[in-house]
Amino acid sequence: MTSRMTPLLERNEQFARTYNPVLLGVPAAQMIVVTCLDHRVDPAITLGLKLGEAPVLRNAGGRVTQPVIEEIAYLAFLRRELFGGQLTDGRRFEVAVIHHTQCGTGFLADPGFRREAAEATGVDEAKLQASAVDDPRTTVSSDVERLLASPLLPPEMGVSGHVYDVETGRVTTLIDTRYP
Ligand SMILES: [Zn+2]
Repeated sequence: MTSRMTPLLERNEQFARTYNPVLLGVPAAQMIVVTCLDHRVDPAITLGLKLGEAPVLRNAGGRVTQPVIEEIAYLAFLRRELFGGQLTDGRRFEVAVIHHTQCGTGFLADPGFRREAAEATGVDEAKLQASAVDDPRTTVSSDVERLLASPLLPPEMGVSGHVYDVETGRVTTLIDTRYP
């Protein structure tokens, strides 16, 4: 009996053959990435992230929602508890927020589409509106502001904003790292 998971498990078998365990430690890139769950924008591919380098938080649009802010606060707490405050190179930890062009959440900017989506899914219309990435340059800027303004963001953590272009594969920095 094969399932759609079968070919992926075969790939995993290949992967496990040469795998070296990654020890629990501070993420080697000293970063957290927040981005969209879109299957065309996986930062393991687009940024070449390797195992152990950076936690990646993904949701529809890559929006800085309250749950995302809470995850970041928890990750920062965990790092301090397990590994202390010092980073190896004396620099601070950073969060990169990356939105992208052609985001599927863009349709939610249309009121008719949004109403239909709310009715079909049972998700609150305001929540759907809040996740819409119509113009990634605008939303990434407001999300960087939102994260910097949150009392839950650890003061030692910097935040930057970027847009990934699905057409070119290129990430453009819109907002250089800022601190609360
Ligand atoms: Zn998207």
